[in-house]
Amino acid sequence: GAKAHGRSAHCFFDESMIQAARERLEIEARLRSAMARGHLLLHYQPQLSVATGRIVGAEALLRWNDPEEGLISPARFIPVAETSGVIGPLGQWVMQEACRQGQAWRAAGLPAVRLAVNVSPRQFQLDDMAVCAAQALAASGLPAHCLELELTESVLAERPEEMRQVLQRLRELGVRIAVDDFGTGYSSLVHLKRFPIDVLKIDQGFMRDIPASGDDMAISATIIAMGRSLGLNVLAEGVETPEQLAFLRERGCDSYQGYLFSRPVPAEQFARLLQAQAEKQPAQA
Ligand code: C2E
Ligand code: MG
Ligand code: MG
Ligand code: MG
Repeated sequence: GAKAHGRSAHCFFDESMIQAARERLEIEARLRSAMARGHLLLHYQPQLSVATGRIVGAEALLRWNDPEEGLISPARFIPVAETSGVIGPLGQWVMQEACRQGQAWRAAGLPAVRLAVNVSPRQFQLDDMAVCAAQALAASGLPAHCLELELTESVLAERPEEMRQVLQRLRELGVRIAVDDFGTGYSSLVHLKRFPIDVLKIDQGFMRDIPASGDDMAISATIIAMGRSLGLNVLAEGVETPEQLAFLRERGCDSYQGYLFSRPVPAEQFARLLQAQAEKQPAQA
């Protein structure tokens, strides 16, 4: 009957909630121990100039190398880290490690590139990102202009005045600010003029169906044109085909990243890509 059905639906709901909570706790505990044991690492995805094809930067992407499960995707554990607060120490580790690695490449004589680090909304609530960045830069010796923080649009909407001040202090340090996944959030274009933003990263969802989708081409072209006229850099994410790159070149997009050139790769492999570029086309002195 309706009553029995209602009750069992209720039970099912409770059990799945408990199950989900249990899973979260388990992942949280394992994540803390993974951090302590050095099972977390960063992969680096090259960012290239559309005009010259040179590597201009790298996005640092977190990986969890579990002895049993192998590489675990950030999509699985970042959300858990965010709800539990582990994201605080985790985010600080990512920033420090990316800066350390960037400076190590410079010290090894590789061409200087900018390191882009993802910062989740929760990190902005937990810690002062300007202080975290300043500490990571000081500890590593990496120049501030080599660090870029990627944040999402939602962060700008939540506590705008506090955010504006933090971003302003980051800008004064010399750190660049990128808006990740641009075009997918509750974006208000007002953000672009109210906040000290340097880069718009066009969400990869808009690239996927180019050139088949006229709508996606129109949206991407509009973001590029708007970014340019506001004096911002525009980077396209998720570029997988030569046709997509040709489209970006035609529209005057500044830079791109995606499987077309390289997936995110371990640090040693990224260093080899930089080395190969230096040998192929030495930078002008
Ligand atoms: P994101 O910052 O938007 O990163 C881009 C994602 O797209 C990465 O997935 C990257 O591997 C993937 N990607 C790059 N090129 C292509 C392409 O050509 N095609 C396709 N289909 N995908 C491409 P990944 O590494 O799994 O990271 C997923 C998300 O996890 C990131 O999205 C970011 O939001 C989050 N994340 C990763 N590392 C960190 C971190 O250190 N801190 C925080 N807070 N979040 C992170
Ligand atoms: Mg990102
Ligand atoms: Mg993105
Ligand atoms: Mg994303």
